[in-house]
Amino acid sequence: MNKYFIIFSFWFFILLVISMSPKKHGLYIHWDIVKQSLINHPELTIIDFKTGISWNVIVGNENILGSFHADVEPKTIDDLKKTIEIWGNYSWTPRSVLVNMPDGELVAASIHNMPHAGVEGEPYLKIVNKRTGGYGTGINRDYVKNNGMSGHVCLHFYGSKSHKTKKEDIKHQDKIRIAANISN
Ligand SMILES: [Zn+2]
Repeated sequence: MNKYFIIFSFWFFILLVISMSPKKHGLYIHWDIVKQSLINHPELTIIDFKTGISWNVIVGNENILGSFHADVEPKTIDDLKKTIEIWGNYSWTPRSVLVNMPDGELVAASIHNMPHAGVEGEPYLKIVNKRTGGYGTGINRDYVKNNGMSGHVCLHFYGSKSHKTKKEDIKHQDKIRIAANISN
């Protein structure tokens, strides 16, 4: 065997091992169970399924048990920058993610990146005008201050529903199944 063949075989083997290593998936846990762990505005780490980039968010819902999904906000401006890096901008397009829950479990989810329904410079839950995303006058759903985001984004889990339609969002549910490795 010549040395080039040995070098080639070595790197071929390394690449083969890398390509075969299983991608980490999240648990497929229903919203009715997941929401029990999201009381009192916990901090969560979100991992983008495709790129592996992670960022931290805070759960904003004041009544998570009565909510259909989690409304979250980046914890800091640096966390917001990570989301811009992943989506390229603000976007309603959902992405598959893994959520590191307060109990350490990794759960499959889906999130978009379009801030809405809040005003950064006004108190949380105050009635305000000109909420982001064309939400007009209403309750200020911007819980985290000084993070550069006016409003919040939606984090869906298996069985989550839209607050507007009160139905499951098919696009989010598809992304959740990808993160959980569940075939349709
Ligand atoms: Zn929402």
